[in-house]
Amino acid sequence: MTALTQPRPAETTATAGASTIPAGSPLLLLGRRADPDAERGVLCPGDLPSASDPDLADRARRARAALGDRVIVLGHHYQRDDVIRFADATGDSFKLAQVAAAADAPNIVFCGVHFMAESASILARPDQTVILPDLAAGCSMADMAQHSQLVDAWARLERAGVATTTVPLTYMNSTAAIKAFCGEHGGAICTSSNAPRAMRWAFEQQGADGKVLFLPDQHLGRNTAVLSLGLELDDCVVYDPWKPDGGLTDDELRAATVVLWKGHCSVHARFTPQMVTAIRQELPGVEVMVHPECRYEVVRDADRVGSTGQIIRWVEEAPAGARIAIATELNLVKRLAAEHPDKEVVFLDDTVCFCATMNRIDLPHLVWVLESLVAGEVVNEVRVPDDVRHWSRVALERMLALPGDDASLLAAR
Ligand code: SF4
Repeated sequence: MTALTQPRPAETTATAGASTIPAGSPLLLLGRRADPDAERGVLCPGDLPSASDPDLADRARRARAALGDRVIVLGHHYQRDDVIRFADATGDSFKLAQVAAAADAPNIVFCGVHFMAESASILARPDQTVILPDLAAGCSMADMAQHSQLVDAWARLERAGVATTTVPLTYMNSTAAIKAFCGEHGGAICTSSNAPRAMRWAFEQQGADGKVLFLPDQHLGRNTAVLSLGLELDDCVVYDPWKPDGGLTDDELRAATVVLWKGHCSVHARFTPQMVTAIRQELPGVEVMVHPECRYEVVRDADRVGSTGQIIRWVEEAPAGARIAIATELNLVKRLAAEHPDKEVVFLDDTVCFCATMNRIDLPHLVWVLESLVAGEVVNEVRVPDDVRHWSRVALERMLALPGDDASLLAAR
């Protein structure tokens, strides 16, 4: 029976305004207290500028100029246009973690979601502050794997007699506490661009009988195991943290090669193989590019699968006149379409598909955190406690030691 009784680890402390938010505060999913065991989140206690203030962009510009090299603003590819235009660096979560690790500025304003700000905090110097403009900007996928659930899952593997031959591998899109668990149990972290290399590494740690526990995204785990490493679909089982015993028998756990956590991205899981078929009929010659967080059937039917950084490169390299359908977050697809008017870049879904939590970072929140810094006040700081920081850094270092990765990420930290 899965029991959610394990003690919670010391987790991220977030401060909003002058008040400190105690560990255990719930994430305010879409502004409401929804899940007491999720990532930290609070309402903004300060004077948030009105969204209708016509001076907002100028206020952001003035505050940014006044801060000079005392701040660096990072913007994830999925951010809104009116926010990302103020970013000093843009990228996916891995690239932005690299930029944060190399940053000299004492303040890092991270326009992304909570797990990304945590990763920046893990990599930043102790004297640097990492600020998330809206602390309720979480990630539904990261929320699907809670530390207490992972402790229970590991105990389940122990009862089945397979924990000693299992390596936990977590996607970057997970809480610092999950990353730390993986580091402490011989595992590592991966990104959407290095998942095949990381999964091969994990298998190498345990030899022929080795298993991988992949979390929190079952789709990235399955796509990697089957489409990149050549395993069969039947080699993978899905562990459901909300079911007794994870919904698996001892025999199923023993027979599996990859144990996939039952989690997904609410944005990328919307795409279907029927959409791929429909766009091929609608736009003859179209090239379908999808993110590996999409379901197996979508990735199987696509022409290319890659991280956001890879998709951006492929669109840039495509010849004029190319027809491209993309399955990833809508802000990025719209931006790519606008930046490449000589190509026909379309969104694979026919309905709106923004990432709701990414969109929580808006201009009023950005202006609020920048103007607060100008006034000498740090608001919405995200700081990972030392014990969690230690083991999550170990897991990150293992990923960075994989051949071909940028080992300079942790240099001089
Ligand atoms: S796009 Fe998906 S994985 Fe990325 S932040 Fe949004 S919910 Fe999380």
